[in-house]
Amino acid sequence: MTGPLYLRVRDVPAAPPAPRGPSPTVPPTILTPMLIGAHVREDDPIATAAERGAEIVQVFLADPQSWKKPATHPQAEQLRAGELGVVVHSPYVVNLASLNNRIRIPSRKLVVQHAEAAAEVGAIGLVVHGGHVTQGEDAAAGVDNWRKFFERQADAGGFAVPILIENTAGGDNAMARRFDALARLWDAVGGFGAGFCLDTCHAHAGGEELVGVVDRAKAITGRIDLVHLNNSRDGFDSARDRHANIDSGTIEPDVLAAVCAAAGAPVVVETPAEGQRADIAFLRGALR
Ligand SMILES: [Zn+2]
Repeated sequence: MTGPLYLRVRDVPAAPPAPRGPSPTVPPTILTPMLIGAHVREDDPIATAAERGAEIVQVFLADPQSWKKPATHPQAEQLRAGELGVVVHSPYVVNLASLNNRIRIPSRKLVVQHAEAAAEVGAIGLVVHGGHVTQGEDAAAGVDNWRKFFERQADAGGFAVPILIENTAGGDNAMARRFDALARLWDAVGGFGAGFCLDTCHAHAGGEELVGVVDRAKAITGRIDLVHLNNSRDGFDSARDRHANIDSGTIEPDVLAAVCAAAGAPVVVETPAEGQRADIAFLRGALR
């Protein structure tokens, strides 16, 4: 496993010499690691990360298709204490925008629970899809549901880890597919400190050009906290969400590497497991 890549974030001026005694050791530059890793489904994420050369892992803490409360991860203590970066992805059933009480209310509860379980593993955040309303419903009401969610939780003391809202690939009523919709969502939630996760497959399949996408996203959200670096099996604006390994989809690998470099955030590939080691190695090589 090679060492982490580093981004130079700022140069630190040398401290003036101390009047007496040993002068403090001031490193010339503070380096922030640009972590590259993968979403892993294996029971032992620490071992799997080592096998694939991942410096950060994304995990589910429960069955992604279920409403079940997450259990404490068996490696929670090691993950929290260790060097490996961790991020948690919330279940797919969550839809915080939904106008249906029987979906929205349990979604809120599940996200709060997952944020607590994510804190136990030392996660940098909890990824939550933007969600959607259904056809004929008012998208503004979906955006307002997001705002209410953040507002209520702020009143209750906030989330245990940052919530990273992810752009999605499909649907005409999505909160975070097209960036004009993303802008309306951010007007509602940005003030509560919502984080942003940019998925390259979702952007491409959702109809957002990847060239310049980091700048366009940041102009809206002011931040990118995480990149889901995936190729897409389907074409531009296809609205289909099928991830591919970096060298095997409809997006040029160099375009993906450029997104990665521009974002300056941790990168996780959510690609077929057998190609993840090569995906990570490609990105690391491309960024060097
Ligand atoms: Zn993703």
